[in-house]
Amino acid sequence: MSRSVLVTGGNRGIGLAIARAFADAGDKVAITYRSGEPPEGFLAVRCDITDAEQVEQAFKEVEEAHGAVEVLVANAGVTRDQLLMRMSEDDFTSVLDTNLTGTFRVVKRANRAMLRARKGRVVLISSVVGLLGSAGQANYAASKAGLVGFARSLARELGSRNITFNVVAPGFVDTDMTKVLTEEQRAGIVAQVPLGRYAQPEEIAATVRFLASDDASYITGAVIPVDGGLGMGH
Ligand code: NDP
Repeated sequence: MSRSVLVTGGNRGIGLAIARAFADAGDKVAITYRSGEPPEGFLAVRCDITDAEQVEQAFKEVEEAHGAVEVLVANAGVTRDQLLMRMSEDDFTSVLDTNLTGTFRVVKRANRAMLRARKGRVVLISSVVGLLGSAGQANYAASKAGLVGFARSLARELGSRNITFNVVAPGFVDTDMTKVLTEEQRAGIVAQVPLGRYAQPEEIAATVRFLASDDASYITGAVIPVDGGLGMGH
């Protein structure tokens, strides 16, 4: 059965791997992008998730082409790392506005149709950092921890409507986001990971696809680490 799937930030990195995983399984996949040329093979809709109007417009485009969104993957996210005493209010609120409030905007819009259909799958991309904490990433970690409370509240609120809300918490993944790290920083991270390496985006995508599959029909409010063992215990 081909479903209407929307992946925010599906134009590169983990989001693109997620979009490919659903497309390979035969789903109708839409992705959001902000600028440049989006990758081929998907319905690409321009959308900055910090703007509610753009979110509304993007959903309308997807609905016209693919029908109401049945699987939403809220993947778009940013970092703006800084030690607390150097972190400006804008460093903090802009990261929260994308990672947490942006997710609220797309989840709320997607739920309109999911409520009507009395079914839906929502997967949020958090991070091991949201649960472990990370020096220099208080804004990012707070936004990613916030996603857990958000998803678990909605799992309780909307479980009776057969809509599941789950969180995937990746560890360090080889993408543009982590390319900014120095070799020394990378080596330091890898030394703490029991599996001794970074993840490939496809390894995150496989878990997301599982959570949206029939095999995961009784899983909601879960936080699934895909982190090579880095966060064991949370
Ligand atoms: P990238 O930096 O490679 O990609 C980020 C994606 O988010 C891009 O598609 C980007 O779009 C999109 N995006 C950012 N801000 C907005 C916005 N305001 N509106 C719409 N789209 C936006 O990151 P990754 O692929 O590595 O990360 C994907 C997700 O996984 C993020 O939520 C990240 O926090 C999380 N994560 C990543 C880890 C890692 O190690 N890489 C580890 C744990 C979690 P554009 O191309 O337009 O900039």
